[in-house]
Amino acid sequence: MDVVFKNGSIVTGEGIFEGMDLGIENGKIAALGKNLAGQKIIDAQGKYLMPGGIDVHTHLDTSFGEMHTADDFTSGQLGAIAGGTTSHLNFCFPAPGQSLMESLAYWKNKVFQEALIDYGFHMVIRDANHLKELSGLIEKGVSSIKCFLAYKDKLQIDEELFYKTVEKARDLGILTMVHAENGTLIDYRVRQALGRKELLPIFHARTRPPEFEAQSIHFAASVASVLRAPLYIVHLSSKKGLEEILRAKNAGIPLWTETCPQYLFFTEEDLQRKGQSPGLEDFEGAKWICSPPLRKEEDREALWDGLISGTIDVVSTDHCSFYFQGQKTRGLGDFSKIPNGVPGIEERLSLLFYYGCIKRKLPLERFVTLNCEFPARLFGLEGRKGKLAVGYDADILLWNPQLKKTFSVHSHHIRLDYNLYEGFYVEGGPEMVMLRGQILYDQGRFLVQPGSGQFLFRHPLDLL
Ligand SMILES: [Zn+2]
Repeated sequence: MDVVFKNGSIVTGEGIFEGMDLGIENGKIAALGKNLAGQKIIDAQGKYLMPGGIDVHTHLDTSFGEMHTADDFTSGQLGAIAGGTTSHLNFCFPAPGQSLMESLAYWKNKVFQEALIDYGFHMVIRDANHLKELSGLIEKGVSSIKCFLAYKDKLQIDEELFYKTVEKARDLGILTMVHAENGTLIDYRVRQALGRKELLPIFHARTRPPEFEAQSIHFAASVASVLRAPLYIVHLSSKKGLEEILRAKNAGIPLWTETCPQYLFFTEEDLQRKGQSPGLEDFEGAKWICSPPLRKEEDREALWDGLISGTIDVVSTDHCSFYFQGQKTRGLGDFSKIPNGVPGIEERLSLLFYYGCIKRKLPLERFVTLNCEFPARLFGLEGRKGKLAVGYDADILLWNPQLKKTFSVHSHHIRLDYNLYEGFYVEGGPEMVMLRGQILYDQGRFLVQPGSGQFLFRHPLDLL
């Protein structure tokens, strides 16, 4: 073996296997067992060996209107590595009128030489012309698309196009992801609120009630039911939404969902936080603005229960970072102009480990299923990613449960002037991060070179 991790606790979705060696050859996992010999030995005694994290929902280097995300691929991927994520799937937004293939080529070219970790893309469907192009996606290694039922007059598509897209995607083995909120009614409520001079960040949440998420999930699930087509609901935020997911799953509809750390750790009260900067005292909450919005305590609790019970299948981040100064502040005096998005790519795994596995008895096996194994299966990476098994890529975390850390803007690796989790204490994190057998990160030191990440050519959905 080229490298052998000695005497660690190997975690998979099925169990925790103590006192095990893991051997690597040519960047792949070659053996799991006892007494393995190798040229390089890494002591894993007292530590967990887990698959590298997979974050299937990121927005790096992306423009939304005039706003461009603070993180590009380099800074976002550095954060990912420090937090133990070795693969991510980013959204490709075609410009208005641009074809899917042109957009994909543009995005691949953008990342090509600078990637630090493995990456793939989901294509966003914006108009009916994109339907004709779906059949070409699989041969390009793209097996998922996204439809928006929110963001009226921007990204929102109508019900007919949504239906046709889900149907076509089903026939091709492409998974359709959905941003499920009623964008038409949200748009009306936002205009109403502005008319009443309700301008502060909290009105972002008040204009997007959870009923509008639940109703949109119900609609999407109805389409999936009629068409017997697979569907993935992104960033689930509410208890009412979760109930719709459960209802659909119980009815045998092939539907899966994810939630994100922000919905597990914050509520709409955070939108009313007070700040220190002069003139921005009532605007601190803008840092927590994302869509769907943060909800209430009962929603937060319901989502944690959903992770443990299995109603929620995946944890991703929806990492979409905008500077507080200069970007979020564009919405001072008009909440509807605050760019929507929060960070999380760096903190996801440690947050879930400490506040989930340690504090809430989320089984460690579920942790691996939610963050690594199931996302790999859903998004066409089974057999290569998300699992510590022979033949899989050697994407490995040497996870030290004793590692202690407090998140802060002063120590994070992403490029942002605030940290959403400022002051959050965690125990447990990656001491070493390996991608295809190459050490990217070792006890706080980055050993990574631009170009070490590869495009993830993904296979069609085969979970049905
Ligand atoms: Zn998103």
